[in-house]
Amino acid sequence: MKTRNISYLRKHLLKFYKKHQRDLPWRRVSDPYAIWVSEIMLQQTQVDTVIPRYQKFMQEFPDIAHLAAAGVHRVCEAWAGLGYYRRARLLHAGAEYVLQEHGGVLPRDLKKLERIPGIGRYTSGAIASIAFGMQTPLVDGNVERVLGRFFALKHEVKSKAGQEALWTWAEELVQGPEPGDMNQALMEFGALLCRPRAPLCAECPLAKKCAAWAVGDVDAYPKLKARVERKTLKLALALVRDTHGAFLLEQRPLDGLWAGLWEPPAALGAKAKKDIEERLGIALGRVKYRFKHILTHREVIVSVYIPPQTRGAKTTQVLKMTEDPLKEPLSGPARKALERFLA
Ligand code: SF4
Repeated sequence: MKTRNISYLRKHLLKFYKKHQRDLPWRRVSDPYAIWVSEIMLQQTQVDTVIPRYQKFMQEFPDIAHLAAAGVHRVCEAWAGLGYYRRARLLHAGAEYVLQEHGGVLPRDLKKLERIPGIGRYTSGAIASIAFGMQTPLVDGNVERVLGRFFALKHEVKSKAGQEALWTWAEELVQGPEPGDMNQALMEFGALLCRPRAPLCAECPLAKKCAAWAVGDVDAYPKLKARVERKTLKLALALVRDTHGAFLLEQRPLDGLWAGLWEPPAALGAKAKKDIEERLGIALGRVKYRFKHILTHREVIVSVYIPPQTRGAKTTQVLKMTEDPLKEPLSGPARKALERFLA
């Protein structure tokens, strides 16, 4: 049985989307690959941050064949600034898979889409509905918020029961014409009007039937788990230069934090300074400056060293010497440390 108010939601969300949708580069194309790339980038990254990087990425890797042929290191470098580099590695692995299994063409089949590395229930729903016009639902953070508030979802939003209810509503909503627009309308509405903080309820076209608004407690929805405290991490960076002033940069491993990005010799942990000294075979001296770098789940305390003597420094990692390190795809802490040093 259809949930009450689904047709009302559909009608008003589509109307809102047609009138207020933002002109975003991936909305001007119907290429399933471009939609795939944009959807992966938009997971956990703000639209404004994504736009310029998406455009550059699409210039360098205009189709699945180009992306599959590129080295994963290069793909991670092109991902700089977007964070969560696992997405870049999976996107690359996904392109290789599609090339091998589907001749470089994304399949018009939900189950087959979900078998592609890096494509889960959300992304398959997005590609199938937006690129192929299929009536496939999706639930992301925006959808959780809009539907969680509109229906005053009684379960914690990430709980099994909460997710089941949200996917059921999303499934019902997407039945009908324009499924791609319907899904995008839901997300756009969450981004522009039913925002995480200070939603614009007074001018909301759904307010008449919004359950959270009716009880006057919009902030209580969707119900979230108590916040987990950020873990603290210690990171040491050694700014090592040769006699010409060129900086030594090393490439980080392809997994873990800041995967594939470049940084001055670095180590994590309580013995980070000692680890770098042993690896490079030089003394780092005293810490020159410290700063905090905040990640979603971690707080990184960065200690920057400028070794008094760098002759004979050795490294076993992939390295490059550069006089203009800020032009390189650096990890966040490395960029901050070098900007401060060069300022
Ligand atoms: S009334 Fe407020 S909480 Fe309800 S859907 Fe509209 S913006 Fe969201």
